[in-house]
Amino acid sequence: MTALDTASTSPSTCSAAVTPGSRDLRDLPEQRRILVTEVPGPLSRVMQKRRKEALPLGLGTMLPVFVERAGGGVIVDVDGNHLIDLASGIATTSVGASAPAVVSRVQEQVARFTHTCFLVTEYDGYVAVAEQLNRLTPGTHAKRTALFSTGAEAVENAVKIARAATGRSDVVVFDHAFHGRTLLAMAMTAKEIPYKAGFGPFPGEVHRAPYAYSLRWPGGRDHCAREALQELEALLDRVGADRIAAIVIEPLQGEGGFIVPAPGFLPSVAALAARHGIVLVADEVQSGIGRTGEMFASEHEAVVPDLVCTAKALGGGLPLAAVTGRAELMDAVPAGGLGGTYAGNPLACAAALGVFEMFHTHDLLARARRIEVVVREELEPLARELDVIAEVRGRGAMMAIELVRPGTLEPDPELARAVAAQCHSQGVLLLLCGTFGNVIRLLPPLVIGEDLLVEALDILAEALRSQL
Ligand SMILES: *Cc1c(COP(=O)(O)O)cnc(C)c1O
Repeated sequence: MTALDTASTSPSTCSAAVTPGSRDLRDLPEQRRILVTEVPGPLSRVMQKRRKEALPLGLGTMLPVFVERAGGGVIVDVDGNHLIDLASGIATTSVGASAPAVVSRVQEQVARFTHTCFLVTEYDGYVAVAEQLNRLTPGTHAKRTALFSTGAEAVENAVKIARAATGRSDVVVFDHAFHGRTLLAMAMTAKEIPYKAGFGPFPGEVHRAPYAYSLRWPGGRDHCAREALQELEALLDRVGADRIAAIVIEPLQGEGGFIVPAPGFLPSVAALAARHGIVLVADEVQSGIGRTGEMFASEHEAVVPDLVCTAKALGGGLPLAAVTGRAELMDAVPAGGLGGTYAGNPLACAAALGVFEMFHTHDLLARARRIEVVVREELEPLARELDVIAEVRGRGAMMAIELVRPGTLEPDPELARAVAAQCHSQGVLLLLCGTFGNVIRLLPPLVIGEDLLVEALDILAEALRSQL
């Protein structure tokens, strides 16, 4: 097939696969792993060729499979393969990729109006999402919420708000942090390749402290929380605490490797920030909205951040982000200083209300906790058996294993890639993360069936064993 043939024939080939009437689109795809071709299959390969000619290299892809439909714990590709979804579009479709409450609310909204721009005229969905976040985020103080479209935008706006409220300039972030791909968020992100290399110079006044990563703490696990806090205190002394507007922290690090901070670290960071009048910003873009078995990961250690950033799962797959926080901080920015043309789009707000409804009607926090139990039951014995697994860690439906060379702490990203590739070819979609690329992360939709989850974990275990 020539390139021209590819371009002219594949759209119709693919649209044939989604012809309405061939099945009821309101039904979930069959909740079963089904492989009818190799993965990626022939139709995905044709699409991939077109993609390569139309899109820049800088857009990476974990698994070059084109999707026809998705829902529950299954992604159906254009070749008809049913893959088990342990990625949820990087924790965006936590309530499922076609959750009824999300789909029906968005359909209802799109028929009424698509957009007004909230800075021009208002609509109730925006206010209702803000009310929900004000109620659900940690702490009983008076709160306000401003909506945005992406996680990076939420993080940047949290810094703007902290600067406006404190009259200070500097920001403290952590090793292994990921805060997004815009210039300031990139400056706040730790990992050089692929996120930062070649994209500088970056905004200044961003300082980095160690995160309480107990597996790799030089002084040992037992001293991690205390020594990491001492290093943060030393940084504040060096910079001058009265110059620091915000400490921005992921209460459970995402891209950096699903790192659960050593117990006690988060509360002591919060206390330190409070003592110095520094705004504590929890970046809950990945960990928030129920992913960890609490609505917010900060709650596991009863931390009450001053500002909370959410995105990813908030919009149930539609682009929506938020900064929620203390009313007096949020109100420090004069009218017109916050917002954006698409920020808080009505369709995304309708979707978010569907997400909150799903948590309520399907008890999704309990489902997230149950996922942790199932994952630990399967992977902890495996970690005892295989000395390439340094640690099984995470909370709720945000679990990971860190892979190392046997008997050492030396990261093994090649093994992680090989295991992921084998899982992909077996119809299990999972992702990697970690500063060293050696962490396999599991982000199943909270609505995944337990049988599917167990099957996927069995395939992961088998892949690990067969690579050794
Ligand atoms: C994904 C992520 C971001 C960036 O979100 P985008 O929507 O990609 O801009 C920021 N912080 C954390 C913790 C994330 O996981």
